[in-house]
Amino acid sequence: MNAVDEGRQVKEASAPAKQAEAIESLYAKRINIYPRAKIGDGLAWFQKWRWATIWATQIVFYGLPWLMWNERQAVLFDLAARRFYVFGLVLWPQDIVYLTALLVIAALSLFLFTAVGGRLWCGYACPQTVYTEIFMWIERRIEGDRVRRMLLDRQPPSARKFALKAAKHGAWIAVAFWTGYTFVGYFTPIREFGAELLRLDIGGWSAFWVLFYGFATYGNAGWMREQVCKYMCPYARFQSAMFDHDTLIVTYDSARGEPRGPGSRKKSRVELGLGSCVDCDLCVQVCPTGIDIRNGLQYECIGCAACIDACNHVMERTGQPPGLIRYSTSNALRLGLDAGAMWRRVFRPRVLVYSAVLLSITAALATAVALRVPLKLDLIRDRGALAREADDGRVENVYRMQVSNTTEARRRFKVTASGLPGLTVASEPGFEVGAAAVATVPLRLLADAAAVAPGSHKVEIEIRADDDPAVYVRETTTFLGLRQ
Ligand code: SF4
Ligand code: SF4
Repeated sequence: MNAVDEGRQVKEASAPAKQAEAIESLYAKRINIYPRAKIGDGLAWFQKWRWATIWATQIVFYGLPWLMWNERQAVLFDLAARRFYVFGLVLWPQDIVYLTALLVIAALSLFLFTAVGGRLWCGYACPQTVYTEIFMWIERRIEGDRVRRMLLDRQPPSARKFALKAAKHGAWIAVAFWTGYTFVGYFTPIREFGAELLRLDIGGWSAFWVLFYGFATYGNAGWMREQVCKYMCPYARFQSAMFDHDTLIVTYDSARGEPRGPGSRKKSRVELGLGSCVDCDLCVQVCPTGIDIRNGLQYECIGCAACIDACNHVMERTGQPPGLIRYSTSNALRLGLDAGAMWRRVFRPRVLVYSAVLLSITAALATAVALRVPLKLDLIRDRGALAREADDGRVENVYRMQVSNTTEARRRFKVTASGLPGLTVASEPGFEVGAAAVATVPLRLLADAAAVAPGSHKVEIEIRADDDPAVYVRETTTFLGLRQ
């Protein structure tokens, strides 16, 4: 039996269930979806792309915490030490502006890609899609494809059924737990954390986050699946605001497909007055959200293109050109645009504005990171002792410097002061700060009493690295004169 005939059989078997669904209820009871994976031999075109993005994103996610850089974890968001390490970049709490810019860039990218490509993110790279696909792959390996799973679920309890279900859930829990462990490995050194885990000697918070993230993965990808996209995901809700009639969506060409019908071996479809759709239901059976794309664009559609693959296979088997279901736009279908005209409409004002803003912010962030001085200074006046007269008659002011060396090498710095006649640094001008460390350094300034009138005067403090004169910071503070 070929895929088209099998699809028809399953469709007929499920017809009474569909009639029952027509009874309206305020509570949307979940109907189990058994997406079919195998369409023809090997992976179909868009299925290959989906697996390519799954491999790419998961190699990055699971592999990144194990990469080393300068004898430390290459990517580590060390919340306890308040340092974020991203390869050669060490970000401090003061650098929150860079992270904010990164988030803005991520949000704008999402706006741009959604305006151009619709739900490409949902269909190919969203963690919900990716983990659901991985979990469904495990499910198929253990329980079989769509029809076998449907039959298994209808069977009464048995040792075989229990063994298959236990194996599936065991494998799901193992993947979910490893995902939770990897997630926590971005916030605590993963190698040490692994050793602690083996000794069952981990902190309460780490254990909580491993279990929380693992449980969320297991629940969302194993049980909730399309319900997360339909009822929980905020992006699915507000993305319609980013769509317009030139946004790429998965569409069914009803002008070509209707009227639908199975056809006959004796007469051509044209003679029977039928469109291209053979009504095999395969596009519905492969859909991970269980919708029928022939009913038009629906918010449940995550744009995964599984129905395109299925329908193209059917078109090939029935000797018709592919593309009855395809990526297209509302305008392309309505106005009958060819592919060239459709793609030219990509460069519309909204896309150009998103692109210009995105490029500007990205360029600004890249410039700021490139020009970033790996040295920070916080200057605090000693409130306990304002101005006082030193032994030699000069005026003395005392401060405390907090110097942050944001490089990963120990460095020596020198402090100088200017802004008043005869202003000198009376404390030790040279000092060292460890790699990625903060040092508190006392600073004592002296100025000629005759040149300093009562009241406050602006002075400038400069700290410069001994080994690289280009690394320096300056800060302005006040120097108080003696009261008469
Ligand atoms: S309708 Fe097609 S593109 Fe949309 S979710 Fe279903 S299979 Fe994926
Ligand atoms: S649109 Fe394609 S896959 Fe769907 S029922 Fe018609 S022929 Fe079958």
